[in-house]
Amino acid sequence: MLQPKKVFRTPEGKLGFEWNDGSRSAFSPRQLRLACPCALCVDEHTGEKLLDPSTVPESVKVLQVQSVGRYAVGISFDDGHRSGIYPYDKLMELTKKA
Ligand SMILES: [Zn+2]
Repeated sequence: MLQPKKVFRTPEGKLGFEWNDGSRSAFSPRQLRLACPCALCVDEHTGEKLLDPSTVPESVKVLQVQSVGRYAVGISFDDGHRSGIYPYDKLMELTKKA
């Protein structure tokens, strides 16, 4: 089961994950904010993106990261958005796309 061994900030201000399979991911705060899967950002039923990327500042920052159960992290951003819960497998998917 995919789990982060370590969550850290990179010198460039990215949020880094070191996974228990030995791989690593690093995401800019804005990349994570735009990928937010919460019901305000993505329509639960159609999967349609509701978030307009132009409303997310380039300078958006991650305020807080907390684990949610054994499968996800909840991330709070300084644009006031704090409902995003990012399952680890979604983060891994995002890593492969980047
Ligand atoms: Zn959201």
